[in-house]
Amino acid sequence: MIKLDKVSKIYYNNGVIGTGFTKVSTEFKMGEFVAILGESGSGKSTLLNVISGLDSYEEGEMYINGEETSHYAEEDFEEYRRKYVANIFQAFNLVNSYSVRQNVELVLLINGNSSKESKKSVDAILKKVGLWELRNKKVSKLSGGQKQRVAIARALAKETPIIVADEPTGNLDQASAKAIFELLNEISKDKLVIVVTHNFDQIEPYATRILRMHDGKLIEDKKVRKTDVIEAKESNYKKMNLASKLLLSFRNAFNVLPKFLITLAVFIIITITLLGEYASFKNDEYNEFANTVYDVFNDTAPERIIVNKKDKSIISNEDIKNVKNIDNVADLKVNDYLYDLSIEMNFKDDYYVAGAVMPISNFKANIDEGRMPENENEIVVVTNKDHFDVSQFYLEGWFNVSGNLYLMNSGNSYAESVKVVGISYDDKAMDHTFYVGKKVMDYIENAYLLNCNDVVLKLKQTRIQGNGSSLIGISAKVPVGEVYVNLDSINGVTDINGENLNIEATSIYNKVSKDFKVTKTYTSESAKKHIGSENYNAIVLNPKDIVELLESDVYQMSVYAKDVDSMDNLIEELKNKGYNAFAVKDTGYVSNELLAIFRVMNYFAIAFVIFVLFGVSYYIIYLVLKSRVTYFAVVRMLGGNVKLNKQLVNIELFIDATIGFIITLLLIFLTHANVIHIEALKNAISFLKVQHFIIVYLILVIMSQLLARKYARKIFKDSMITTYNMEV
Ligand code: ADP
Ligand code: MG
Repeated sequence: MIKLDKVSKIYYNNGVIGTGFTKVSTEFKMGEFVAILGESGSGKSTLLNVISGLDSYEEGEMYINGEETSHYAEEDFEEYRRKYVANIFQAFNLVNSYSVRQNVELVLLINGNSSKESKKSVDAILKKVGLWELRNKKVSKLSGGQKQRVAIARALAKETPIIVADEPTGNLDQASAKAIFELLNEISKDKLVIVVTHNFDQIEPYATRILRMHDGKLIEDKKVRKTDVIEAKESNYKKMNLASKLLLSFRNAFNVLPKFLITLAVFIIITITLLGEYASFKNDEYNEFANTVYDVFNDTAPERIIVNKKDKSIISNEDIKNVKNIDNVADLKVNDYLYDLSIEMNFKDDYYVAGAVMPISNFKANIDEGRMPENENEIVVVTNKDHFDVSQFYLEGWFNVSGNLYLMNSGNSYAESVKVVGISYDDKAMDHTFYVGKKVMDYIENAYLLNCNDVVLKLKQTRIQGNGSSLIGISAKVPVGEVYVNLDSINGVTDINGENLNIEATSIYNKVSKDFKVTKTYTSESAKKHIGSENYNAIVLNPKDIVELLESDVYQMSVYAKDVDSMDNLIEELKNKGYNAFAVKDTGYVSNELLAIFRVMNYFAIAFVIFVLFGVSYYIIYLVLKSRVTYFAVVRMLGGNVKLNKQLVNIELFIDATIGFIITLLLIFLTHANVIHIEALKNAISFLKVQHFIIVYLILVIMSQLLARKYARKIFKDSMITTYNMEV
């Protein structure tokens, strides 16, 4: 089976040469129960390690089944160990955190059996060595004798023809030692068992051959019993399957609780830091956006896209439906120009405040002062605390004070009376935005429509021409279809009650003409009484009539994207469908060039954080995993190669990272639900979307795999026996 021909083991340590043993020649056959005796330091262990392929030899030749091995590489010896040799050590070399059954199962899993397939053999072996009762006990809780039984059970499970034991009873009392030798004898019938021991008396009744070593030389080799000729049966192992790898990695991830908790804590901290950093990165990008200046638009929502037809034609209901159906379209607004108008409010004739309008239904923020509107004329303002209109004293002039709201730069003297009842602060806001009810919104629309129409009024022989907003006033007091006429503004007409007044309005889009019946005349002095406010326009109409008369077809709309990140695609799609489209955010310019530098610095900051995080977590995880060196040495001893060990580390850290990530998501959920409070996570919620979480998860997984790789490179670069000796 195994033949040694003048084999020597020579150690070179830092230039110092030592010998383990010299020129040993002997042969071992199947069925033998060999005892190797000799004082300490005589080379017994070294010989055993060479025989079992754990250590190399420098001189001579060792034959396995007649095959020379001097040219063997590490992988060849790995293969040899898997097929032929099972080891038993003085120090047991079991996985202490595993149960008895798991220790025995480990060999079978490594040899390519599934957990299910292994069950029968494991049970049979545990019964055979008398461990059945203890099968679910953790190995760390067993006595020395029991531990060595587990080691023997494990050696049996490996199903190799050779079992090699190095002082298996060295740590045991007399009684336990005796029982172990009995057991070894029992299992040696169809195997080759080689035992190194000091206990000659105890092994003497069973040994078939006795070898004695002295000072690195074999000085005695005698056969004491006859043995049968037996054929060697190689262990028929397969590659370890993925399910078993996962099973082991899960077992390893969880089975030492403190180790699991520390690793988990590391990954949770990494995740939170990454998310926090990523969120502040996004936040800065957003701030950069907020520092951008826009000349034309008030509604500068980053998701807003301005759309019209390429041929400048009317946008039909069909068009609107089609655009709404595009995937990335969250909302669509026609008459969107209303949000880009400049509005002014006048309070007690002393305070003038200007800004943009939005329908109150668009208001999504929280009220910081005051309350939400309760009637049509109450409004809410979103503004910046730093805005000079808000400085505490000035706010008194227009907060909770009734005032008049009107369209800026329009000649129309009509204004809606409003009262600011709620204020919401937004430190990114550049100007005020007034959130108003439908009535005020309609007024703005009317005033705007009047402003962009030129009108001709025809009454009897009189003909008056001018801008819509200077000639036509608005009042709900005028019934629909009727018109009130200000006699001070139209000279020389009398007896007009009941007459028809024709209005012809022309805008850049269209020209309309319509008759209204004059039902009342008044003078500037009596305006307040008849139409509810001071008025200097020539005529006054009901707001409904103004909309009907002047509202043109839709030529432009705003489309709001669901996902700003893929807005370019949406714009491209709209263009392909025959529209002109551009993002409002692209019309602004960054006011400060330094911002561009800050942006680059931000990238460096995030890279730096990842770098430092990686360093610190590598150090911690290295310390944690260091305690596992023995485990990996055991796996190697049992036939698992370096590659398998690396895979186990990879999968285990992948599991840790994933669990850490899931727990962080849970923390985010709890933060969101206000159960706990973690500042870094609060930001993460407001700035990050699903894809950002996926990116952070990917970074985490990559980091865990790099950690595993770095660790494996460091830990597995030494040969197995070095690693093993270092630890025991
Ligand atoms: P035994 O097992 O019989 O007590 P060993 O086989 O452990 O003896 O050691 C035999 C000799 O080899 C001793 O002189 C020992 O100092 C030497 N030796 C063992 N391992 C090493 C090593 N890793 N490096 C250098 N010398 C070693
Ligand atoms: Mg020894």
